[in-house]
Amino acid sequence: MKTTTRAVVIGGGIAGCSTLYHLTQEGWSDVVLVERDELTSGTTWHSAAQVTNFGGNQTMVGLKTHSINLYKELRDDADYPVQYNHGDGGIRLANTEEQMDGYRHFSSMARGMGVDFEVIDAEECARRHPLISTDNLLGGLWDPSDGDIDPASLCQALARRARKAGAEVYRQTNVTGLTQHKDDTWTVHTNKGDIDCEVVVNACGYRVNEVGEMMGVHHPVASMEHQYFVTDEIPGIVEAGHRMPLLRCPISDYYCRQEKNGLLLGFYEQDCKTWGMDGISPDFSNDLCPDDLDRVTDVLEGAFERMPALMEVGIKNIVNGPITYTIDGAPLVGPIPNKRNAFCIIGLRAGLGEGGGHGWMLAQQIVHGEACYDTWCIDPRRFTGHTNVELTSLKAIEDYQNEFRFHFPNEHRPVGRDAKTTPITPVLAAEGAEFTIVNGWERVEFMKPTPDFHVTHTFKFDESFDIVGEEVAAVQNAVGICEVNGFNRFEITGEDRHTFIDRMFCGNMTKKDGRVGLGYMLNDHGMIKGEATIANLPATDRGPQRAWFGSAAAAEYHDMDWLQTHLRDDEDVQIKSLTNDQTILVIAGPKARDVLSAVSRLDWSSSAFPWLSARECFIGYAPATVLGVSFSGELAYEIHIPNAHLYNAYKTLRKAGEAFGMEMFGAKAVDSMRMEKGFLHWKADILTEFDPFETGLDRFVKMEKEDFVGKAALEKRVAAGKTVELVTMELDTKEAAAHGGSSVMVGGDVIGTVTSGDWGYRTGKNLAYAFVKPEYSATGTTFEVDVLGKRVPATIIPMGPYDPDYSLMRG
Ligand SMILES: Cc1cc2nc3c(=O)[nH]c(=O)nc-3n(C[C@H](O)[C@H](O)[C@H](O)COP(=O)(O)OP(=O)(O)OC[C@H]3O[C@@H](n4cnc5c(N)ncnc54)[C@H](O)[C@@H]3O)c2cc1C
Repeated sequence: MKTTTRAVVIGGGIAGCSTLYHLTQEGWSDVVLVERDELTSGTTWHSAAQVTNFGGNQTMVGLKTHSINLYKELRDDADYPVQYNHGDGGIRLANTEEQMDGYRHFSSMARGMGVDFEVIDAEECARRHPLISTDNLLGGLWDPSDGDIDPASLCQALARRARKAGAEVYRQTNVTGLTQHKDDTWTVHTNKGDIDCEVVVNACGYRVNEVGEMMGVHHPVASMEHQYFVTDEIPGIVEAGHRMPLLRCPISDYYCRQEKNGLLLGFYEQDCKTWGMDGISPDFSNDLCPDDLDRVTDVLEGAFERMPALMEVGIKNIVNGPITYTIDGAPLVGPIPNKRNAFCIIGLRAGLGEGGGHGWMLAQQIVHGEACYDTWCIDPRRFTGHTNVELTSLKAIEDYQNEFRFHFPNEHRPVGRDAKTTPITPVLAAEGAEFTIVNGWERVEFMKPTPDFHVTHTFKFDESFDIVGEEVAAVQNAVGICEVNGFNRFEITGEDRHTFIDRMFCGNMTKKDGRVGLGYMLNDHGMIKGEATIANLPATDRGPQRAWFGSAAAAEYHDMDWLQTHLRDDEDVQIKSLTNDQTILVIAGPKARDVLSAVSRLDWSSSAFPWLSARECFIGYAPATVLGVSFSGELAYEIHIPNAHLYNAYKTLRKAGEAFGMEMFGAKAVDSMRMEKGFLHWKADILTEFDPFETGLDRFVKMEKEDFVGKAALEKRVAAGKTVELVTMELDTKEAAAHGGSSVMVGGDVIGTVTSGDWGYRTGKNLAYAFVKPEYSATGTTFEVDVLGKRVPATIIPMGPYDPDYSLMRG
């Protein structure tokens, strides 16, 4: 066994084998995999091993396409062919129009990744799957490339190829401890000896937290018991003369694929069970949980009604095994939060279908620092600090129970709500707030007109449309107040803070006390890594001279990692998170200055406190820090208040606001207004797949700066020319907004992809942003956008159609 290597991958299931193989493909051949037992002895060996192309966003579709292409290649390898039934096809069923709309959207989204789904009616479903009845069925989504693979030979094939490329695999090698050294390298302790390495990868399946504990980390991953059975031969399958497509049923929560001449039927029962939460026996290997078909009778009834042939055949065998879930159903693939040189590929609940792609995404991140697709949807840093065992188990149960029921854009599931609140959350609830959830924070979405007001889960504009319009009107005509909780805020202190900030951002960031600036951070490939405001505050009795770094609510761990990684040993810079300590109340609208003047003694005139200023003050007797910035396009102030004083400041502002017609507004109104101003959202419109020029952020880049992170790579990109451009479009429909991922079409060709869409109430326009090919980016260009299966005419308009010269927000 080697005693030094570049990377040690811990775990020999599909996650570990795929990572090991892809590390060799990305250029690291001095890598090893250690497995406590035999390869695939965790969950992988007993998997139903269906491989599908369906995903809720383009990254998932792209990485699953990679799995499929890789598995085809392995199937066709003459030396070691893997059994892969590719192209049986698959149907996701639907019995509501809302579900069908979802499928239409996912189909539009996948087309941009070169994947052709088809939305078909009930009769066509039955024609393609002759065993199903059309009762209570509207139709479904057809995925032509669905199939299934032999998990054991897949992993052996990947390990075999990795070995050929220089990697080594050590079986019967149990990792018993991990030590990180001062230079961030690791020693992996095993029952066979120690291995020193640069990078460790946790790919331990349901034992994820045993290894997590060895590095002092709890991963938000919980295991659920999951069962399937395999039937005896079904005559209808033999008679059909072709393999049966896969089925996924959100109506009755089961899946089904052909196994020999019978069916394999898997269940997501409501009466489900977590597994191994109080520890797992060290002897549980190549093992199963006891079967318990009583638990799945509700699901079985639905399956029998859909496929009556099932009632005629016996059950050959039953499998019940642990399957891992996370907080939001997507796995954790990438850097482990707050650790250096430590990565994970865990929480895979569809690891056979996705594993090929996840290993590819992870290996790229380890070797190149970034993958070819934006990996935020699987980034382990997307949850911050509230995801303990309790919450993870509850969310895992909720997710399991809803396995095939995709999230609607306006759907916020009930479990784990109240995880992050502020002192005014109950006050806002009592006033009628409907909450959305942002990284665990309960944020007002809109104000309900009546306590029992309810919206339909839909991809179309919903019943809150006019209510949101009224909130926008209040902001536009008078003044609105909005709580922005969880906003990420770091306090950066130390003599070298400006030099550090200057290096991290590609633009010129203000160094003046009392001034605020917006900037962008790039990665080493010249692509956009982060967006933040910097506000410089003078030394006062509240603290020394300092810069406040403000960014998206979900960005806390991500941005902290990025900043800390770039800190130099000899730099006098300290970074402290204030995210959980302070909350923002935004007041926006032409009367915002009047309200602020009524509650604070200072001079808030535009000459004393111009746009992009920052200063400390009191709101009544609540200490506050005010920033003159606007996301709505109206005159606005961000009032940052310590949570201890939030209730008091809120009451004071509301009382003063009465004289000026102040109304509450929520996140939906904010989103509508920011689109009218051409403002972007991190991880919707700002992605690591594009550089700042492609994203239309030219004014925030100063190439003449001596240096900044990503400059050399950006210079090369500029020389090569843009591959896409972000544009604003007006859509000719009042039925629905274009959702992120919708395809922009010219004839049969996809020439772009929507990143965000929303109705603009002040402009009366249905607006969307999209990255399109540069030759289609001129203002006035027309094309079509596939919105829920309809080709909607769209025209490029100048970015930020509301108040284009920014006179309102400058006040
Ligand atoms: C009943 C069932 C049906 C399923 N059907 C499908 C399906 O149809 N399609 C699909 O895509 N997915 C399916 N899945 C999910 C899929 O099987 C899993 O997502 C996948 O197998 C997880 O692989 P993994 O490599 O992450 O974990 P595992 O396969 O559990 O591998 C982890 C490995 O780490 C090793 N290990 C743990 N601790 C240590 C240590 N300290 N030192 C060294 N090694 C260690 C373990 O021994 C194990 O071999 C199903 C799961 C179940 C339970």
